[in-house]
Parts: sequence; structure tokens; C-alpha cells
Amino acid sequence: MSIQPKSRHTLARALLTGGLLASGLSFGSVAHAAISFQFNFLDGAGTGFNDATTGAARQSALNNAASLFSTMFGSHFSNSGTVVLDATATDDPLNGNLASAGSQLSLAGGAPAGFNLQGVISTKLQTGVDLNSVSADGAVNFNFGKNWQLDANAPVSGAQFDFYGVAFHEFSHALGFSSLVQQNGTDLFGSSTAGHWGIYDQFLVDKNSNAAVNHSTFDINAGVWNTASIGGASPAAGMFFNGAHAVAANGNQLVGLYSPTTWNGGSSISHIDTDNPAYASTMMLHSVGTGNGARNYSAIEIGVMQDLGYTVAAVVPEPASFALMFTGLGVIGCLRRRTLTTTA
Ligand SMILES: [Zn+2]
Repeated sequence: MSIQPKSRHTLARALLTGGLLASGLSFGSVAHAAISFQFNFLDGAGTGFNDATTGAARQSALNNAASLFSTMFGSHFSNSGTVVLDATATDDPLNGNLASAGSQLSLAGGAPAGFNLQGVISTKLQTGVDLNSVSADGAVNFNFGKNWQLDANAPVSGAQFDFYGVAFHEFSHALGFSSLVQQNGTDLFGSSTAGHWGIYDQFLVDKNSNAAVNHSTFDINAGVWNTASIGGASPAAGMFFNGAHAVAANGNQLVGLYSPTTWNGGSSISHIDTDNPAYASTMMLHSVGTGNGARNYSAIEIGVMQDLGYTVAAVVPEPASFALMFTGLGVIGCLRRRTLTTTA
């Protein structure tokens, strides 16, 4: 899913940098379960993340963002594991996209219809099972045609985008904060009946709590989808997320999702509703202005991730928890899989 820039100052900025980095987040001292990221920098020699002049700083910033994300995520959730991402860069100042990321997806051969199109990354972090052991688990792309602040400790000026806030946003998509329903209401295989949908999609409802995908037949509810997916701003219209933890965090109200009246491919439904000021400055809006961005989850975003299957950290996990990463290995080897990649 992509994140797009807004012209400067169109969103209220959360001035987090000073407090965030002064409150003890430091590298190499993560005392809790954590996600480790490994990046395959795939750009050609002399370009993108391998640029002769700027490549080292770009790679360093992405690794730094991964470490800081791990610290932030680990302050809320106990899941751990190593995530391998293919990292590429574009260099297009005229392109509206700042960055994008996604997870490889996997479906067991012969699987019946359901909310069972699994993210390789979320499965790895939640169960320890690596559904595609020989491949990268997902992909991330940054557009270095934009003006980024790559220093995590420096204020992000009104002319710059917050590399870290955007990276956290993209990593969250890769962890499963993303709908897999297509604009026309089909799944990724083109089916609108008895489909294979993502975990996130089971929580999609309209304002009256009618499910977008029928939980028994796994057919798209066309009346709900065609109306709510382009319904406009919440809370009056649009699509909502009804996971129990997210709803509880939102004062027992459905959580509005970005549902512009013109479908925005790669952004619609996969974000908190940018068009509802109640959610201003949260990390998972579809667009972000210049200046400091959110580098921590809101309570609603914590709730969404919990609904997606992540385990809230009640206590600081013991190092022995890392052994859990390996449970379940070997079981999946007997299954045939179909793997897709979404990076839009
Ligand atoms: Zn996004």
C-alpha cells in the first residue's frame, strides 16, 4: 500500500521528535522481544539504495528505521521474528507516492474459501512458520525524489518528509494492515464468490455493521462493498473496521477507513480515514504532510494490530520466547502454496 504526500501544512503535525528520542529509545539495547528486519537492496549499481553518493546513508536510514520500528512495536506487542524485505528505490519527484510496502501472501493448496490468504510476514511473526523460506517475505520501496529527513534525531522541517514516520507506516502495511479486496469487489484471484480474502477483510463493514464479505459464503456483499468502499468520509459513510479491540479503543465506535468517493487504488480501505479529522495525525492515514510524522501507534492502531492477531505485551517477554519462533516449522512443508506479492 502506498502513502502519498499532501502539500505542506495540510495536516496538523504531531511534534514527536524531541520527546520520542529523548525517552530512552536507543539502538542495541532492546530488552524485549523484537522484530529484526533484513533488507535485500536490489537497486542496480549506482542507483537507488546503491547510489554511489547517497546509497550508504539511505541504507543506514532504512536499517535505523527498522530498528526504531522494532522498539516501538515491541513496546506494544510481544511477537518476534526476522522479516526479510526486498528494498528498492525510485527517484521521481513528480510521482505522488512517497513509499510503498507489502507482504508476500500464501494460500494453502486446496484451501476452501475464507479469510485465509495469509501474509507471510504476519504468519511468521505470529506463529513462527515461514511460508516461503527461500524468498523475501515482502517488499518496500521509497521514492527518493522526495525531500526526506534521514536523521532520526533531527527535527523534520516544513520542507521535508519524515522518513521514520513513513517507514513505520509502510512496515505496518507489511505486517498486515491492508485490505486485499479489489476495487471491483473481487479477491486477488478475480473471484467475488467463495473467495480467498485477507485477515483484515473479515473486519470490513459499512456504517450499519453489514459485513463487506459474507462470513459464511465468503461472497462479496456487493451492495455493501459498492456503496461503502466509495462512500466518503466517516462517521457518516464509507467503510469501517469492526475488530473488537479497535472498536473498544475508539470509544466503542466503528473505526472509519479511508473511503474516498473516487477509488484510490493502493490507498482506499487500507488506511484509517484521512477524511475524518478525529483521526488526524495518526500513523495509518493514507497521506502525510511534511514535518514530523507519527512514530507511535495510536490506541486504535494498537487495537487493529491486535485484531489482526498480534499479541499485546502484558509483561516484558523472557529471552526464551524466541524459541517460539521455531514452533510449527516442518508442518507447512507438505502444503502446496500459491504466492502473490502486493507492493502497491
Ligand atoms: Zn499506506
